[in-house]
Amino acid sequence: MGKICPVFIPFAGCVNKCLYCDQSSLTGFSQSDIINSTITQIKAVTTSASLSKIAFFGGSFTCLSEELRKTMYKISRDYGFEKIRVSTRPDCINQEIIDELKLNCVTEVELGIQTLNDKALSLNLRPYDSAKAINALQLSCENFYTVAQVMPGMYGDSTDDFIAGFENLLSFKPQGFRLYPTVVFRKTPLERYYKEGKYIPLTLSKALQISLYCAAACINNDIEVLRSGIPTENLDYSDIVAGPFHPAFGDLIRTFALMLYFSKSGNNLISSKDGSRVAGYKSLVKKLSLYKIADGNDTGQLDMSQVYKFIREQFIEGNFRLFEGQTNHFAEILQDKAHYR
Ligand code: SF4
Repeated sequence: MGKICPVFIPFAGCVNKCLYCDQSSLTGFSQSDIINSTITQIKAVTTSASLSKIAFFGGSFTCLSEELRKTMYKISRDYGFEKIRVSTRPDCINQEIIDELKLNCVTEVELGIQTLNDKALSLNLRPYDSAKAINALQLSCENFYTVAQVMPGMYGDSTDDFIAGFENLLSFKPQGFRLYPTVVFRKTPLERYYKEGKYIPLTLSKALQISLYCAAACINNDIEVLRSGIPTENLDYSDIVAGPFHPAFGDLIRTFALMLYFSKSGNNLISSKDGSRVAGYKSLVKKLSLYKIADGNDTGQLDMSQVYKFIREQFIEGNFRLFEGQTNHFAEILQDKAHYR
C-alpha cells in the first residue's frame, strides 16, 4: 500500500460520547486546532520523506463539517498527496458523501462498526444501528478499499451476537478488518460500570478465542487482518483498568494458532529454518514441545495462512461454540503464561 503520512485528528467529528471512550479528552478541539495540528503533523513527516498518501485517523472524518472537510482536502492537495485514507463512523456515510470522497482522491475508508448488536450499539451510545452500519459498509465496499473495525466484548453485547454480526460483515467482503477487543479505560463511564459490577470484560483467553475465530474466518475469505488488539503506540498502560489487554496481542493469536495447528496436525515436523519462526510467544510453542525439528530441510516452509485455513477446517466449521469447547485448554495455558507487567 506504499508509505503513508499519518495524521491524528483525535475526537474530531465526535458528536457523541461513547461509553468506552475517555470523555475528558473530548472538549477543547476547535476547527483551527485541527487544521494547525494537521499541518504540523504533515510537516514533521514530509520533511524526511516524500509520501503520496495521507491517512486521517483518530476521529470521524466524514462527520466533520463540510467546510472543514474541504479544508482538509485542500491541505492534502497542497502538500502533494495523491491519495487519502479516512476513518469514520457509519452514521456519516451516504451516497452524497461517497461521491464527495471520490472526487477528492479518497481511496481507503476505515469504518468503526464495532458490532451489529443493536442493543449494544445503543447502550454504548454509538449513534447508528446495525441497518445503518450495513448500508455504510456496503456503500464503502462498492467504492473504496474498506477496512471494518470491530470490538468484541462491548457492554451489552454477547459473544453469540457479536459472532453472528461479524459473519454478516464478512459477507460484504471488505478488504480488511481490525479486531479491537474491548478494554476498560480510566475516566470512562465503562470504568464506572465495571467498578459497580455492571460490566464484566472478556477474559484474555476468551478474547483470544474470539479473535482467532475471526482471523481464521478472514483469512479463509482472503480478507486481511490489519490489526488485533488495541494500538499501543502512545498508549499509557496505566490508563487501562481492566479487560483483555496485552501489548503483544497479535503475537498471542499467532501463538494460539500454532498451538492448535501442532496439536491436531499429523504433520508437526518442521524444518530447522522454521524452528525459530514458530517458537511462539516467549517460545511457548517450543517449550510445550508441540513440534519437532526434522533432519534435513525437506519439510517445506510453514505457511501461516495455511495454518489459519487448517484451523478453520479442523476446529471451527462455522461454529464458535464448538471451537470454544475444543480450544479452552490451550487458550487458558496461553492466558496463564501471558504476563507482561
Ligand atoms: S469512540 Fe470514537 S466516536 Fe466515540 S467518543 Fe471516542 S472518538 Fe468519538
